Amino acid sequence: MDKNIFIRKNALRPTEEQRLLTQPFYSHANELYVRFDDWKDIDRFYFIPLYLEMTYSVAGITAELAPDPVWLGSFVQTIRNHPDLFQYQCPECGKTVLPFRFVGSPLSGRVDLEGYCNCGWKGYKIVSGWFKRGEALRNQIAADVLRYHKFKMLHPGTRPATVEELLDTLGR
Ligand SMILES: [Zn+2]
Repeated sequence: MDKNIFIRKNALRPTEEQRLLTQPFYSHANELYVRFDDWKDIDRFYFIPLYLEMTYSVAGITAELAPDPVWLGSFVQTIRNHPDLFQYQCPECGKTVLPFRFVGSPLSGRVDLEGYCNCGWKGYKIVSGWFKRGEALRNQIAADVLRYHKFKMLHPGTRPATVEELLDTLGR
């Protein structure tokens, strides 16, 4: 197995609370993609932690595309900046779908890009290329680490915002 593939035994499962805080992202992802410019420069929002559970388990071993939590801003940037890897056309109306999550298997390489379209379609598209998608996301996270540390240093003890707070600020 490639040393760059993240494999851990007994990966930590997110808590119920972390899972609940992540859920609004699934249903409001399109809004947050479209309005990215309105919130991307605000650290409290950029670094909202998402627990996307993008893991694949086989025989007790868990492989993950990126370790949880993934920062909201990093995730959204990755999907926006790599249309060839992540974006696809809605099978119903042909508009572009930006997925809110992707999971797959490092063994087969299969990845399911889960998303929805404003026309009402909901589902996922199956593609191949597990490693390059995980790599794109991890590269974006690595690129954001310095900004994250600055944010933490300037605002010690700040609690990260939640997706709900961001949506309220955007005036949904
Ligand atoms: Zn559609």
